[in-house]
Amino acid sequence: MTSIIARAAAKVRDGERLTPAESVEMYLHAPLPLLGELADVVRERKHPRRVATYIIDRNVNYTNVCVARCSFCAFYRPVGSSDGYVLGFDEIFRKIDETIELGGGQLLLQGGHNPDLPLEWYEDLFRAVKARYPSFRLHALSPPEIIHLTRMSRLSIAGVIERLIASGLDSIPGGGAEILVDRVRKALNCYNKATSDEWLEVMRQAHRAGLRTTATMMYGTVDTPDERIEHMLRLRALQDEVGGFTAFIAWSYQPEHTELGGVQATGLEYLRTLATARLVLDNFPNLQASWVTQGGKVGQLSLAYGANDMGSVMIEENVVRAAGAAYCMDEVEIVRNIEDAGFTARRRNMHYEILGEPIFRQKEVRRMLNLAVAREEGDGSVPAELANYPARSASEKRRRALQ
Ligand code: SF4
Repeated sequence: MTSIIARAAAKVRDGERLTPAESVEMYLHAPLPLLGELADVVRERKHPRRVATYIIDRNVNYTNVCVARCSFCAFYRPVGSSDGYVLGFDEIFRKIDETIELGGGQLLLQGGHNPDLPLEWYEDLFRAVKARYPSFRLHALSPPEIIHLTRMSRLSIAGVIERLIASGLDSIPGGGAEILVDRVRKALNCYNKATSDEWLEVMRQAHRAGLRTTATMMYGTVDTPDERIEHMLRLRALQDEVGGFTAFIAWSYQPEHTELGGVQATGLEYLRTLATARLVLDNFPNLQASWVTQGGKVGQLSLAYGANDMGSVMIEENVVRAAGAAYCMDEVEIVRNIEDAGFTARRRNMHYEILGEPIFRQKEVRRMLNLAVAREEGDGSVPAELANYPARSASEKRRRALQ
C-alpha cells in the first residue's frame, strides 16, 4: 500500500476530507476490500442503525422524441420518427393510478427534448396531476430538460424553475449529468444539451428555490478515472455551497443499440466507483445502489460498498432497457435483497424520510414481475391535448396539416 493510500485511509477513519490527489489515488490503486471497508465505515457513521431504504415510485418517460441526439443514448427517436411518442395526460393519470395501487406516491418524470412540447405543456400537465392527486409528488425534469425549456421559452433557469414549482414540481432528478467535464460531454455529443456549468447552475438555482434534488454519474464511455473524480469533486463543491442534494447515484454506461457502442464496465469497477464516491462525497447523505444497471446481486453487494439505499422498485423502465438491460425487482424482491444483506428495509420518500415498513406486509399488493413500458408497441396514437400548443417542428406542422 502506498503512503498516500495509508494516509487517505486514516483520514477517512478520522472523518477528514480527501484531497483531489488522494481521491484519485484511492480510486486507482486502493485494494477493493479496503475501499469497501472504508465506505462501510462512512455509511455506518451516516446511517448507524443498518437501515437500508427504497422508494415506491414509477419511472415515466413522457416522450422519446429528442433533438439532443446523445451518442450514448438508445432511447431517443428523432423528430418525425414513426416510433416517436408523446404520452397523453390520460395515459399519465393511468400510470399514477397503478403506482398508487402499488403503494407509491411519486412519479419520476423525464423525457426527450421534444420541440413540440412548450413550457405550457409541462405546466398544464403538472397542474392537472396536482388537481387530481393533491398529495402525489412530481420528481421531474433533469437539468438538461430545464435548459431545453429555457431555450424554448427564452426565460432564465430561475424563471423556468419558478414557473414549474408554481404548477406543481416537487423535486428535480439528477439525470443528464453523465460526466461533468466538458471534454467528455463534447465527445458524447451532450455538450450542447447542457454544459457542465449549465447542469450545475440548474441544480444551484433549484436548491436556492428550495427544491431538493439528486445527482447522478454515468461512467464508462470515453471518461478517464481522473474525470470521474473531477465529476465527484464538482458535485461536492456545489453541495458545500447550496446543500440541496439528497443522494448520489452512479451507473455504468449501457452500450447496446447506441451509436457510441463499446462494452459495459464490470461489476467490480462499479463497486470500486461506488465505494470511492462514498469516500469523496463526504457531504452527501445518501448513496443509491444502481441495481437497474448492475442487476440485483451487485445491487445487494452495494450495501457493503457504501450504499444505504436501493433506489426505486421498478414498475416501468424504458431508457436502460433500450440499451440492453432489463432488470426487474418489485418491493418483495427488493426487501428480500436488503434483509439478506443484514439490513432492515424501510420505505422512504424523495426526502429520505422513513414512511414505514414494506407495504406488502401491511396489505395485499399485486406482484410486479414484468416491467411495464411507456407505450405498447405499435400504439402510435397522438394525444388530443397536443393541439392546444403550437407545433414547432416541420413534421408536426405537416402532420396537423394532413388531419
Ligand atoms: S440522453 Fe436524453 S437528451 Fe440525450 S438523446 Fe437521450 S433522451 Fe435525448
